[in-house]
Amino acid sequence: MTSSVATPTGLAPQEAQVVESVPTGLYIGGSWRPSGSGATFPVEDPSTNQVLAQVADAGPEDARAALDAAVAAQEGWAACPPRERGEILRRAFEAIMDRQEELALIMTLEMGKPLSESRAEVAYAAEFFRWFSEEACRIAGRYAKAPNGAGRLVTMRQPVGPCLLITPWNFPLAMATRKVGPAVAAGCTMVLKPAALTPLSALAVTQILADAGLPGGVLNVITTTKAGPTTGPVISDPRLRKLSFTGSTEVGHALMAQASEQLLRISMELGGNAPFLVFEDADLDAAVEGAMVAKMRNGGEACTAANRFHVAEPVADAFASKLAERMAAVKVGRGTEEGVQLGPLVDQPTRSKVSELVEDAAGKGAKVLTGGEAMDGPGYFYRPTVLAGVPAGARCLSEEIFGPVAPITTFSTEEEAIASANDTEYGLVAYLYTRDFSRALRVTEALESGMVGLNQGMVSNPAAPFGGVKHSGLGREGGAEGIEEYLSIKYLAFTLG
Ligand code: NAD
Repeated sequence: MTSSVATPTGLAPQEAQVVESVPTGLYIGGSWRPSGSGATFPVEDPSTNQVLAQVADAGPEDARAALDAAVAAQEGWAACPPRERGEILRRAFEAIMDRQEELALIMTLEMGKPLSESRAEVAYAAEFFRWFSEEACRIAGRYAKAPNGAGRLVTMRQPVGPCLLITPWNFPLAMATRKVGPAVAAGCTMVLKPAALTPLSALAVTQILADAGLPGGVLNVITTTKAGPTTGPVISDPRLRKLSFTGSTEVGHALMAQASEQLLRISMELGGNAPFLVFEDADLDAAVEGAMVAKMRNGGEACTAANRFHVAEPVADAFASKLAERMAAVKVGRGTEEGVQLGPLVDQPTRSKVSELVEDAAGKGAKVLTGGEAMDGPGYFYRPTVLAGVPAGARCLSEEIFGPVAPITTFSTEEEAIASANDTEYGLVAYLYTRDFSRALRVTEALESGMVGLNQGMVSNPAAPFGGVKHSGLGREGGAEGIEEYLSIKYLAFTLG
């Protein structure tokens, strides 16, 4: 069953102008160039299916050239004073904020999210540069007396060396700056590979960093439709020191296996299956508000998206009907239109998976309170959906939905709520609504996740350590912890004569 959404086709002059301003080549050793083969690939607007730009399609030789440039620049970059590294990031932060509108438009065109969300992502992305511009000058070691009283222990933290950074399509700018910011601050050089669905935001920020004074070779960017064959030889190259990946757990597993050959330092920000717990004592309106943020930020296409709602039995019906009312009122459309709150899903496979999960749950007895269908016309739109009474065994409770679908189940005791929340191989984030402070701490301690949102539907903050446990990954991005991923500790031993 389908219903329609009005989506204008064709780019407005201002849209065409910002898209044309984005470089579409590979950025290697401080200059833009076509791929060695001359191949390009199209980037599409998921609202209209219109091609926005043709971007260079790199192959293994291009990736090697990018690594060559990163390796050549490493020694000089590590020697660059921390203050200078920080000031480059600070200038880039300011330039991004000066161009927030333009960057938001590029993001909305390539990814589909509403302009209001793109503006928020641009600010969030820029903040990683500001945060790490400050952290660049706080890289320190320690000096200690050994237990025997004669020895002295000195530690220093040094850049790990050339890094490969691989990012997903859902937050096209922030996932790049969350890696590039700390790598620049730590004194590492890099090869960045953004997702082929949304490369334009990363290409635009690359030019901003170059204009901010980042020396050639420090950041090299390759775009490609052949991710595995192109990055594989870089991962196997003994000159690479670190792999930082954000994306699906499936690809993360494969990359960890590859990275083990060279014993690379790794950071893995992988998939999620966030539980959203609403206890009987919660402020129900606040919980619904938080549910809208946790579910609908980025249209549900977020690793942190609330994937399943576990609600105390006595308040479950009220929560479900309030949430359904809010979801039914969401304005769906092309992200560039004023007032639109939900754009399209990023592509057809993503929408088909969402449809499949909803049909599976409905087939197993879940009640569709609102939505439950794709929308006609160009673009990959799917209606905001609430499913009540979702039975155990429905796939949407165990798989990442990555769309605007809220499945609701119930619990009767705190123990049952915790057991359901932890009944997943993922462990990125969990949300918890209660007014009982002891319960909040008790449940937080018992949750198997890297992050917990207490009475709030969003945890992302550049000043906080973002990351997961279990199959949601390894390492942390942001916060004081974020730069550690790009530093190695060296210990110096000596004895006083
Ligand atoms: P994906 O794993 O398909 O792709 C991520 C990136 O890896 C892309 O750049 C892709 O081209 C590249 N890639 C794919 N196969 C590769 C291979 N064999 N070798 C090297 N690179 C390869 O994920 P996606 O669909 O782009 O993103 C959605 C996923 O990302 C979801 O699972 C989501 O939860 C996760 N995600 C996690 C976080 C986090 O911080 N934990 C943040 C955002 C997204």
